[in-house]
Amino acid sequence: MSFVIHGIAVASGIAIGRAHLFAQTSLDVTHYAVAENKLDAEVERFNAAIATVRNELQDLEGQIPAGSPPEFAAFLQLHLMILNDVTLASVPAQLIHQQGCNAEWALKQQMDLLIEQFEEIEDSYLRERKQDVMQVVERVLKALMGQPVASASSLKPSEDSILVAHDLSPADMMVFKNQSFHAFITDMGGATSHTAILARSLGIPSVVALHHAWAMIREDEPIIVDGMAGVVIVNPDKLVLSEYRLRQEQWNLERQKLKRLRTTPANTLDGTPIELWANIELPDDVEAVKKSGATGIGLFRSEFLFMNRSDTPGEEEQFNAYRRVATALRGQPITIRTLDIGADKPVDSTPTAHSLNPALGLRAIRYCLTEPRLFNTQLRAILRASHFGHVQLLIPMLSSGTEINQVLTLIEQAKAELRSEGIPFNESIPVGGMIEIPASALALPVFIGKLDFLSIGTNDLIQYTLAIDRSDDAVAHLYNPAHPAVLYLVAHTIRTAQKAGIPVAVCGEMAGDVAFTRLLLGFGLREFSMHPAHLPAIKQVILKTSIPDLQTLVKKILNTYDPEKLTALIERLNQ
Ligand code: PEP
Ligand code: MG
Repeated sequence: MSFVIHGIAVASGIAIGRAHLFAQTSLDVTHYAVAENKLDAEVERFNAAIATVRNELQDLEGQIPAGSPPEFAAFLQLHLMILNDVTLASVPAQLIHQQGCNAEWALKQQMDLLIEQFEEIEDSYLRERKQDVMQVVERVLKALMGQPVASASSLKPSEDSILVAHDLSPADMMVFKNQSFHAFITDMGGATSHTAILARSLGIPSVVALHHAWAMIREDEPIIVDGMAGVVIVNPDKLVLSEYRLRQEQWNLERQKLKRLRTTPANTLDGTPIELWANIELPDDVEAVKKSGATGIGLFRSEFLFMNRSDTPGEEEQFNAYRRVATALRGQPITIRTLDIGADKPVDSTPTAHSLNPALGLRAIRYCLTEPRLFNTQLRAILRASHFGHVQLLIPMLSSGTEINQVLTLIEQAKAELRSEGIPFNESIPVGGMIEIPASALALPVFIGKLDFLSIGTNDLIQYTLAIDRSDDAVAHLYNPAHPAVLYLVAHTIRTAQKAGIPVAVCGEMAGDVAFTRLLLGFGLREFSMHPAHLPAIKQVILKTSIPDLQTLVKKILNTYDPEKLTALIERLNQ
């Protein structure tokens, strides 16, 4: 059966391929059809898994060491009771036959039903027993799969695999970076969640906020991902398929044409030179930076060096990574942002405190200031790398003058240490701050007086201005870069920095979105930093733009508050 799912477009392009389902947790299971003549075997597989878990639990019971707390035996008995209940032990076998589905799916449906019943129980102790149900089901699922649950690194994509996930963490995405998927689609996420940003950096189509795609799509099903429209077509018919093949060819041709702009200077029609810089996550991304024709790196998200590992990279390791990039850029600027962890970018080695509002919690510079040793290690590594190229230091999430003073003191301390150790570094390394909290955009003199440059992080600036969690698919439709409040803050920051004579860049996703290139040029922006994959398209817009011609419309846009009129004016600007 063919059907269409709508989500949020994240990365452009069209992919035609087959679904490869990724289970992030052990309770995410795949759903596929089982042929009529294989249903008995599927039931046998299910019964065998139940028997395996029953034996496991009974063995555990027999091995309880003398003197163990009585709760231990009670806990195992409870798990055995749950396992032996007909709801889990026999109804799934009936479902396999009734629905012609796989054992994992049948079991999952029963688990959901049981959980629902537990949730209705008034007694809080009994209600909490749903955790035990989940643990038992997890055991059976493991037995069914005969191996640990798929992890990002164990997935093996084939030629035309399209990754379908309920949710993906930025750490998972880093692993996928080295695999050859044709597209990514997820149920969760917003357009500027870090997972989406990474998908975009791969230059392959991606759609997020599809809500139920993972449950509806089956392994190996043919699908089309339209990264421009934010649409996924499952089981397309021949006509749709040939239409999309044509569109895909056109898209690829367009991309090839854009590549020819690599060495063309990014000057507007009136001759204004624009800096187009790249955002990177790891030193290996330098290759893509070179291919894109970027003239520097405006954002090195250093936190990605800390992901997918249980330890923290030490000074030598960080220094080598930063120096590698600095050397490769041969004198072009490289802006290294200090550790920006927390919220949707957790790392295993540095546990952050659990918070009800992680985006407002101990993240980024706030976290680093509570971990001075960790911060000092990074500062020393960046300072040492500054001897090998044009390195700039960028501090994320600054919100007050006190924080800046603390940071500047710690930088001075790290410098003093290196000096006394006779280790060379650039004494006048530029130190900049991210403007990504509305308070900083509204109190710019605090920042301008103390910092050498500013970089506007529109992803977080929009999140905090509009109070929209950037990674929450439930509110993703409200995440609006063209909101008058956002436009005001961006324009105001650019204008104020320029008046003060300090460089200002935009390094959030807005800088790589062709819909906003002219508007940002009209605001006075001359430094754009984006994922290398976006750079040619942005350059093409710049080459066709005359800045003086934008002024009247830009002024009007800044004085317009009606959303429809605003959209129409921005569209006119882009014509
Ligand atoms: C931003 O917030 O716009 C930004 C560039 O930083 P990050 O996306 O890494 O939070
Ligand atoms: Mg940010």
